[in-house]
Amino acid sequence: MAKRGAITINESLCKGCAFCVKFCTKDCIAVKGDKFSPLGYLLPTFVNEEKCNACQVCGWMCPDLAITVYEMVEA
Ligand code: SF4
Ligand code: SF4
Repeated sequence: MAKRGAITINESLCKGCAFCVKFCTKDCIAVKGDKFSPLGYLLPTFVNEEKCNACQVCGWMCPDLAITVYEMVEA
């Protein structure tokens, strides 16, 4: 069975560079343009959640260590 994942984005650390959007091959991260960080940066959102495979790439690419990736485990 394919791995399933989820991410959280720390809105205080994010600087809005959108590297995570660019490098997620599953189109699971998007900048919708309606959410801003406390410092005024445009924030990305986790979308298409069912497609995330916990590959970790977004976490590796984030220069501000704002993303945490979780791998779902079957109960
Ligand atoms: S873990 Fe992989 S599939 Fe999931 S959001 Fe990050 S880059 Fe995309
Ligand atoms: S890569 Fe990190 S800092 Fe850049 S937009 Fe994504 S979460 Fe924010």
